[in-house]
Amino acid sequence: MNAARPPERGPAAAEAVAGRIAGTVRADIRALAAYAVAPAADGIKLDAMECPYELPETVREDIARAVRDAALNRYPPGGTGALDQDVRQAFGIPAEAGLLFGNGSDELIHLIVQACCEPGDAVMSPWPSFVYFDMAARFDHARFVGVPLTDSLELDLPAMLRAIAQHRPKVVFLALPNNPTGGLWPDQAVQAIIDAAPGLVVLDEAYQPFAGQTWMPRLPALPNVAVLRTVSKIGLAGLRFGYLAGHPDWIAQFDKVRPPYNLNVLTQAALRAVLRHKPVLDAQAARLRADRAPLAAALAALPGVSVFPSAGNFVLARFSGQPDGNAVHLALKTRKILVKNFSGAHPLLAGCLRISVGTPAENAALLAALQDILRSH
Ligand code: PMP
Repeated sequence: MNAARPPERGPAAAEAVAGRIAGTVRADIRALAAYAVAPAADGIKLDAMECPYELPETVREDIARAVRDAALNRYPPGGTGALDQDVRQAFGIPAEAGLLFGNGSDELIHLIVQACCEPGDAVMSPWPSFVYFDMAARFDHARFVGVPLTDSLELDLPAMLRAIAQHRPKVVFLALPNNPTGGLWPDQAVQAIIDAAPGLVVLDEAYQPFAGQTWMPRLPALPNVAVLRTVSKIGLAGLRFGYLAGHPDWIAQFDKVRPPYNLNVLTQAALRAVLRHKPVLDAQAARLRADRAPLAAALAALPGVSVFPSAGNFVLARFSGQPDGNAVHLALKTRKILVKNFSGAHPLLAGCLRISVGTPAENAALLAALQDILRSH
C-alpha cells in the first residue's frame, strides 16, 4: 500500500506556491478578480435576473424521464440534429441561419473572440454593459474598448461611430436590452453601428423575451451580424444553454474553436423535454414583463430613488439620497433580500442597484423592506 504524502501546509508551502504562480500565471489574470457569483442563500434572490417561477410538475416529470433515458456512458453525439430542429422551431430561427450551441451564452462569447481576435485586436461594446464582454476579450488577449453611455445611460451613437472608426473593432457586442441598465437601443442606431462596423456585430438578445422585439428575422439580410441568445432568463438558468445564430459560414468558423462535446447529454435531453412545453416558459416571461412596470413605478415613488427605463426582467434604480446605494444594498442583505450592487462598478452607475423582477410576493417584500430602510434612516 502506498502511504499518501500529506499535503504540505504552512507559510513556507504558501510562499512556494505564490512564487511559482507569479512566474507562471499571466500577470493580467493574477490582477483580476473572478466573476462574482453570490453563494446560494435562503431569502429573496433578485440579483441575477433568474426566473423566480419553478417549472410545473408535468414538465418536471417529462424532464425526469428524458434524463433517465440519456446515455451517460457515451459522449454527446456529434451533430445536434434533433435539438437543432427543436431550437429552431421554439425560437423562430430563420431556416437560412446556422446555429451554434454553447454551455451558456458566456461560452459562445468566448468562442467568438477566440476565433476573431489576434492579440491586441479591439472588441467593443457600449459601456457599462455585460461585464463578460470585457472579461472574455481580456482572457483571449484582445483589447476591450468600452464606449461610455450618456449620463442618462442611453447609447451614445456618435461616440460609438467615432470609436468604431478609430479602433476598427473585430467584434462589437450590443446587448439588446442592455445589462445592467435595461435600455433597448433604437433600431436605427443599431443599424448604423452594423453599417459602420468593419467586422462582426453580435446582437446579444439574452433579455429579448422581455423586450418583445428581435433582430432574428432580419438576420439573413445582415451578412456581418450574429444573434446570441440564452435560455437562462426564461426559467432555465441552471441548464446552461445558449445559442448563436448567424450565416452558416460564420458559424463554421466559431465551431472550430468550440470545445469538443461542450453541450452535455443531460442538458440536451432536459432542454428537448422542456421545449415541448414552450408556452409555459412564454407565460412566465409574460408575467415578469407585466410585473416590471408596477415594480419600476413603485421604486420610483420612493424618496431619493430614480429608475431607468427597462426592457429586461430587471430594473436599475439609483439611490441618490441617504442611505446611499451601498448602504441600501447592505440593509437589504441583512433582511435576506439579495439585489446586485453596481454603486462602485462604474461612475455612470453611482448609487445604482439592479433588481430582478420577482414574484408579486417577492416584489412586495422588496418594496416593504425599502420603505422601511429609507424611512428608518
Ligand atoms: N449576455 C448578457 C447580456 C447577460 O446579461 C448574460 C448573463 N448575465 C449572458 C449573456 C450570459 O448568460 P448565460 O451564460 O447564462 O447564457
